[in-house]
Amino acid sequence: MNFRNFYKPSRLTYSFEVYPPKSDAGITDLIANLQALKDLDPAFVSVTYGAMGSTRDVTRDLAIRIKNEVGVTTAFHFTCVGTNRPDIKSYIERFKKEGFELMVALRGDPPQGTEKFVPPPDGFAHANELVSYIRNIDGFSIAVAGYPEGHIEAQDKETDLKNLKRKVDAGADIVITQLFFDNADYFDFCERARVIGITVPIIPGIMPISNLKQVEKITKMCGARIPEVLHARLRTSEGDPEKIRDIGIGHAISQCREIMKRTEPWFHFYILNKSESVRRIVGMLK
Ligand code: FAD
Repeated sequence: MNFRNFYKPSRLTYSFEVYPPKSDAGITDLIANLQALKDLDPAFVSVTYGAMGSTRDVTRDLAIRIKNEVGVTTAFHFTCVGTNRPDIKSYIERFKKEGFELMVALRGDPPQGTEKFVPPPDGFAHANELVSYIRNIDGFSIAVAGYPEGHIEAQDKETDLKNLKRKVDAGADIVITQLFFDNADYFDFCERARVIGITVPIIPGIMPISNLKQVEKITKMCGARIPEVLHARLRTSEGDPEKIRDIGIGHAISQCREIMKRTEPWFHFYILNKSESVRRIVGMLK
């Protein structure tokens, strides 16, 4: 199985990203939410890897449960944080044994309170090194992260894009973007990426906003921007969760519709472990 095979011209294709909940009850809820979304037939569900490798085993156990209990194609995320080559090999070999073939390969963030990522001994400094390593030891299809507004540590967007090309040249099959709320950033990013020879699919990461404080926190952490007009609408409705959710859904639908018109109908939804918003969005797109 290869990520690339999901994406056919003009065919609506979407995937869902989830994160490992902290409690058993949260995990049960998440499994139920994914079961409720199964009829939407996502290409795959991807399971994130906690900051600082904090959900190492939880990510793996959850990914295995989603694959087996929900019965959807599942991808796992993995970062270079706090791990070395032999450890990476044994971690991902277990996935291989469980029948996984799709991996999202990342560097990960530096520990909170520090600015610079320090590679672990016998580990990797950048995601392109991880991609090369996995390519050499195994037959996984690999997705990597792209940043329409530039990665938060990058000195400028052009350097960041050249670094994205290193990941693709190392063997990534697709790029999944960080969330963005202004499509102009995505269109510009794709155009610049094509100019420097990145030809793989660049799947837009769409996050339906459902909570103002949460989206402010996420965007601050990852260096993404909430356009002022959208931000003002959200602020006006603060305290009315349903209104906020409706604004978030409406904005995501208009982002997707414009992307479908201008490029391909391919999306990666950051569903924040919920089912309702994405069901409404996909319903409208269909
Ligand atoms: P890199 O590609 O290594 O880039 C990091 C920085 O280094 C960039 O500024 C880049 O320009 C620069 N750079 C890259 N290569 C080189 C090089 N060879 N030489 C010099 N500079 C270089 N985080 C998690 O902890 N867990 C997750 O599950 C997770 N999933 C994610 C999924 C997606 C789709 C996205 C967009 C992000 C995700 N992240 C996750 C966040 C990610 O780990 C952070 O953004 C991290 O800071 C960078 O990871 P990267 O793989 O993009 O790193």
